[in-house]
Amino acid sequence: MTGSIRTLISQEQIQARVAELGAQIRAEFGEEPVTLVAVLKGSFLFVADLVRAIPGEVRVEFLGVASYHGGTSSTGVVQLTLDLRHGIEDQNVILVEDIVDTGLTIDYLVRMLKVRGPRALRVATLLDKPDNREVEVELDYVGFTIPDEFVVGYGLDLGELYRNLPYVAVYAP
Ligand code: 5GP
Repeated sequence: MTGSIRTLISQEQIQARVAELGAQIRAEFGEEPVTLVAVLKGSFLFVADLVRAIPGEVRVEFLGVASYHGGTSSTGVVQLTLDLRHGIEDQNVILVEDIVDTGLTIDYLVRMLKVRGPRALRVATLLDKPDNREVEVELDYVGFTIPDEFVVGYGLDLGELYRNLPYVAVYAP
């Protein structure tokens, strides 16, 4: 694939911030069980690290959505490709996203999960790209706020590549 990448957030920065978020989440929920709902595929590495940063009772579930179709700009269409295997009624749910850009994906998912009766519903995102927001969304746990650039790595892809980078990088075509 042509194009160049430059590191934006290092592996060390990510690990330190994820540890902080995990501790914050546990502190806020006390000893109550927490259910992380990871939005695939982009958040698979974030949730893998986040779940290990939260002590005590934690469940992990997966949701699949497709909103980008191999390119670097959003289509605005959210398609559910995988639903939860278990109900979330009366659970403390944290939706785990890789990045919030326009907000359309998280807005759709929050509305979808709310009607399933969770006790609490929060949103955690590794990256927040607020410049492009089209709908207002409440983000409870944000790893890093970044400028409006296309990023790859640590789970985020371009055409299914770059997910394996242990850091977040800006992709320049
Ligand atoms: P939104 O619905 O908030 O516009 O976009 C959310 C989804 O778009 C993310 O879960 C991610 O899949 C994709 N996305 C948004 N910005 C980027 C980016 O800079 N890099 C990559 N790889 N995906 C992005």
